[in-house]
Amino acid sequence: MNAIINAKAVLPGGVLDNAAILHENGRIVAVGKDLEIPAGTEVLDAKGMWVGPGFVDIHVHGDGGDWCWEEKPEMVAPHHLRHGTTTMVATIAYWWTPEELLARTKNIQEKIDKGLLPNVYAVAFEGPFINPKRGANSDAAPRSGPEADEYLALYEATHGKIGQWMYAPEMDVDGSFGDFLREKNIPAAIGHTNASPAQVRGAVDRGAAITTHLFDAMGCCHGNDSWKYTGTIQESVAASCLVCPELTYEIIPDSRGVHVKPTDMRLAYIVGGPDRIAIITDSTTCNYDPADYPADDLRSTVDLNYNERGQLCGSRLTMDLAFVNFMKHTGASVSDTFRMAATTPARAIGADKEVGSIVPGKWANFVLLDEDFKLQQVIFRGDLVAR
Ligand SMILES: [Zn+2]
Repeated sequence: MNAIINAKAVLPGGVLDNAAILHENGRIVAVGKDLEIPAGTEVLDAKGMWVGPGFVDIHVHGDGGDWCWEEKPEMVAPHHLRHGTTTMVATIAYWWTPEELLARTKNIQEKIDKGLLPNVYAVAFEGPFINPKRGANSDAAPRSGPEADEYLALYEATHGKIGQWMYAPEMDVDGSFGDFLREKNIPAAIGHTNASPAQVRGAVDRGAAITTHLFDAMGCCHGNDSWKYTGTIQESVAASCLVCPELTYEIIPDSRGVHVKPTDMRLAYIVGGPDRIAIITDSTTCNYDPADYPADDLRSTVDLNYNERGQLCGSRLTMDLAFVNFMKHTGASVSDTFRMAATTPARAIGADKEVGSIVPGKWANFVLLDEDFKLQQVIFRGDLVAR
């Protein structure tokens, strides 16, 4: 038996001071104030630190030295684990040809199957059925729409376990891809899109449950960005999503509020609340050193990433940084922020029976944060993670 004592435990019902958490064989056994600690228990004194559920990041592409779909996803997953992400999905981006995408999917799935990536819950797909006008990478291999041959092969390559699958609703003209995702119980996401309000609503009616990085890679106004009545604007795709209460909204909270402006972040938080926002990193691999750039150049930012064309390309966030940034930009409470960094994303990908909150029976995944919310320790399935 193991115990964490003197914890400021962040539980589904709120914060419990002076709490103890018992765990055994990687699973949470009990949580409470006056728990009896059995003789022989290995005790970790949290010394009053926050103890929350391990982070769940439902949108990771890479970092730690590689992309998750290249040779070494074994570098990506531990990098994020060291920063508190005890559950992640390995998200494959949209810019590959069908052959490349399938090969990369098989590569990472093989490593998941071999047990080499224990904190990777599943593969996820960001595309490839995106609106080419809303890709961030101009070399993307555009598809004219979802092709059954392509998506069925990807489905088979992952044995049908897919963390989430993002598509642009306007590309799925007859709705057959949305129907396929629902039929197979794959969490469907809306993103990289210019969808109209009706197209967003239609995708949600077909089962879409997530908005991929709300406010990013989606039209300010659907279709044409100009509008015919001077002084008025069309609805944004983000607004079309925010009025659908079925959706969970991914938010990338970088330190400078570049991906999502602080005002928009607060808007999403006010509208959606902690049960509908999933804090994500959209973490990518970086090939430059931010220290080489002056402070007024955005490339000097420690948690942003730009590609060789100077375009914003994901982030180099880790969830411990994203957690603090979100609180800073929105004023959200610790309890709410843990919900958005663990509980809500776990539910969005269907992993909430196992992870996402400190509840007996779930995996003993914890992060310990000091009073400044700096990550001090990570526990993954009962074991301390070397950092
Ligand atoms: Zn992404």
